[in-house]
Order: sequence, then structure tokens, then C-alpha cells
Amino acid sequence: MPNWNADVGYVRSLRIRSLSIACEGKRLGGYGCDHCGQLDLAPYPDALSLKAIRRQLVCTACGAIGEAEVRPNWKELAQNPMYGPR
Ligand SMILES: [Zn+2]
Repeated sequence: MPNWNADVGYVRSLRIRSLSIACEGKRLGGYGCDHCGQLDLAPYPDALSLKAIRRQLVCTACGAIGEAEVRPNWKELAQNPMYGPR
């Protein structure tokens, strides 16, 4: 999946309305942060890239800026399958 070129419109085309965010920063002592959460896409325009969103994210647990992994929230795909029984 070409996540690096994906934008908000692409994620919406998958019928996914939020992003899954996982921090790749470090906490004091060098432990991986792993703080994660979801970001609602409603306020963002289709043309905004996931890369641009990533750059602006600030982790509320460790304070890392732009170090989160940003992915479409694939769990929503399971809840709204594009293919299934009629
Ligand atoms: Zn963090």
C-alpha cells in the first residue's frame, strides 16, 4: 500500500474516516513511546497528504513532533466491507 503518497481523499475513497496514529518517538530513558490513537479526518481537505498530517502531529505522551506512523484506520474497513453478501 503506497502510504507515502496517500492523501485524505484516498483514505475517504476506501470509506475510512479516521487515521490510526502510532508514535515512534522515545520517552525518557530511551524507551519506545508507542502512544497511539485515532484522528478523525472530518476537518481535513481531500488534497492534504498523510505526510503533511504526520509532520504536524505532536505526541501528547512524549512530545515528539512528526515522528508518528500515520495509517488509514484499517479497522473501519472491516466494519464497512466493500464486498460482502447482498
Ligand atoms: Zn510519543
